[in-house]
Amino acid sequence: MATKSVPNSAEVQAVFERYVIPNYGRFPVSLVRGEGSFVWDAEGRRYLDFFPGWGCNLLGHCPPKVVQAVQEQVAQLIHVPNTWYMESQGEWARLLSEHSFGGQAFFCNSGTEANESAIKLARLHTPKERYKIITFQGGFHGRTLGSTSATAQPKYHEGLGPLVAGFVYAPYGDLEAVGNLIDEETAAILVEPIQGEGGVRIPSQEFLKGLRTLCDENDLLLMFDEVQTGCGRTGEWFAYQHFGVIPDVMTLAKSLCGGIAGGAMLTKPEIAPSLRPGMHAATFGGNPIAARAGVATLETIAEENLLQQAKELSKTFETFLKQLQQESSLIAEVRVLGLMVGLELTVEGAPFVQACLEKGLLINCTQGNVLRLLPAMNLSIEQAEEGLTLLGDVLKNPPSSR
Ligand SMILES: *Cc1c(COP(=O)(O)O)cnc(C)c1O
Repeated sequence: MATKSVPNSAEVQAVFERYVIPNYGRFPVSLVRGEGSFVWDAEGRRYLDFFPGWGCNLLGHCPPKVVQAVQEQVAQLIHVPNTWYMESQGEWARLLSEHSFGGQAFFCNSGTEANESAIKLARLHTPKERYKIITFQGGFHGRTLGSTSATAQPKYHEGLGPLVAGFVYAPYGDLEAVGNLIDEETAAILVEPIQGEGGVRIPSQEFLKGLRTLCDENDLLLMFDEVQTGCGRTGEWFAYQHFGVIPDVMTLAKSLCGGIAGGAMLTKPEIAPSLRPGMHAATFGGNPIAARAGVATLETIAEENLLQQAKELSKTFETFLKQLQQESSLIAEVRVLGLMVGLELTVEGAPFVQACLEKGLLINCTQGNVLRLLPAMNLSIEQAEEGLTLLGDVLKNPPSSR
């Protein structure tokens, strides 16, 4: 596919400056096409993408089965509301259920919406006086006001108050603190089984198991936000499967539909009826395009044995980065579970992201000093090594010292 005459990056940027609200920090690059783990800009420059779609493109850019399913579906039926049955939504729910804990699904369009549905479910399912939800410092649950209130990071609250009432925050990993926060008004615990935006923080098994026990003892719902960790990202279908803990509720989005917008909340069949008719809805939730893309994503992962591939890739990343840590005093810690990769630096990370961009490698920095990689499951080992070598060069030759 030749890139036709497209406006260059500077021209696109000029249009944005005039017409698009500047609420995002953007690189001065206009992307025009992608294939697998490569993406091209308007100038025809190719980048190796270790952070495709902010974690959404778990199968890389334009995965063929997803492309085909969407193309077929848009020509057949673009949208029908949830007042009708549609085969693909049922099929999607069945696959998610079979790959997880046998739950039932509510579909929406994003991670924050999935969490809103979980928050409502927690309040609806428990007795009326129970409305509090315990969440964790450093967590991230999305940008609607409910999910923002659930997100225990003060920087995301500045100027937005009053927040939605009922969220109480505990230090991540601190079971005793959680125990102390539980009272007769507590309905649920909402937690990421790995904190993604919070810096790829991987908790101990005892912590998540301890939360399960606290929920069982106090009749609370244990709700896992797997928006970033879900659907194969960690080398298991869902991150909870690494920890031997089954949540009551799980939220999904990001990679759920192979890059198409989609979200879901899954819960156990005995809890599901609490989200009773009329209490919650999403107009576009579970629409035929998202459903077909969701099914195609799950089928691709299964058919191409990508959970196994993710585990192997994970070893490549971990081995390389731990070796790099030996050679560079800039790396404080390497945290890897499946294809969630965090590299905590002793210095600010942004200059390294910039330096990688200049070398044609796309990565992310979160929390100021954690380089985050969320590579695609179908990245090849050769591509992984190519990108890691670039990253290694940048870390051994830090931008400030050049
Ligand atoms: C990205 C993210 C969200 C928010 O998802 P949106 O689709 O942007 O609303 C929620 N929870 C976690 C863990 C995330 O990583």
